[in-house]
Amino acid sequence: MVNNQAGSGRIEDEWPIRKKQLLEALGPGQVDIAFTTSQDHGAQRVRQALSQGVKKILVVGGDGTFSEVIQGFFEGNRNVAPETVLILMPGGRGDDFFKTITGQRFYRKKSSWTKGLDIIRYGTPVSVDVGKITLGSSPNETQRYFINVSSFGFPGLVLDRGKNEEKSFINKLIKKTSFAYFFQSVTALGSYNPLIAHVIVDGTPFFKGELHSGFILNGRFNAGGICWDDNSKINDGLLGVMLMEYRNFFSFSINSLRILMGSAQERVGVHRGEGKKIEVIFEGDSKPHSLFEVDGDLFEKNQDRRAVFEVLQKAIKIQAVNNF
Ligand SMILES: [Mg+2]
Repeated sequence: MVNNQAGSGRIEDEWPIRKKQLLEALGPGQVDIAFTTSQDHGAQRVRQALSQGVKKILVVGGDGTFSEVIQGFFEGNRNVAPETVLILMPGGRGDDFFKTITGQRFYRKKSSWTKGLDIIRYGTPVSVDVGKITLGSSPNETQRYFINVSSFGFPGLVLDRGKNEEKSFINKLIKKTSFAYFFQSVTALGSYNPLIAHVIVDGTPFFKGELHSGFILNGRFNAGGICWDDNSKINDGLLGVMLMEYRNFFSFSINSLRILMGSAQERVGVHRGEGKKIEVIFEGDSKPHSLFEVDGDLFEKNQDRRAVFEVLQKAIKIQAVNNF
């Protein structure tokens, strides 16, 4: 499954050589190639392939494409093809989930691609966790599965603004790098009115107060390479929780810079936990901007102010070179 518009069209330009490399790495066997488009993101095509009994699904794309493929695997908390192995090849701009799989950042696109080819050749299937978010309340619930990170609060505002400013040159240039997040964050902060959030972890109250940002971590990185928690594991049956309290502009800027330099742990106003089920409720009834983001996408439809995150332990097999 290839998103040939990934990486701002880079995949399409280089497809002949990449296709050759992929087929060589995969070795003998029947391979069908399908392309995703901006209208059809591939979840249905994946579901169809799974129902036909394919052994492996290889995805070339960014975090958005990976996320779509995950939707194709899951229905009603269940992986419809638990023996099928998912192989993820980095082709996007951020490639944040690929950083979690490999445990490293890549400073050149070429080296991450080479690492991906090595994983196809020398890797083995490893079972990893998948997250599920349920937005709203029955009977108007919306559900989505995620493999990397879901966030809430201020990131919703940043993404809203990013969508509206899609065409600006500077935005195209810096989009999907950690500096984009910082840049957007600083410029958006003036418009952010902190919301009061309640966060409950495995039935126990964990946080109540003015929230800047919250992150539910299956993977470790998002926003183009920011590592939110070095200790978060992708196969431990737990979702990490990382909350940043609302602080003044100065303190926020300093915190953000520190996070860009290292990771978010051990900072003042940062709360870290983990659990199997995490409930987030925003107080009040007005909704100034999107509140919840899942693997880089906004998908809330209603005035949803409540979300429940659950872990599906070791629910999918991905090709990897280590045990994390
Ligand atoms: Mg975990």
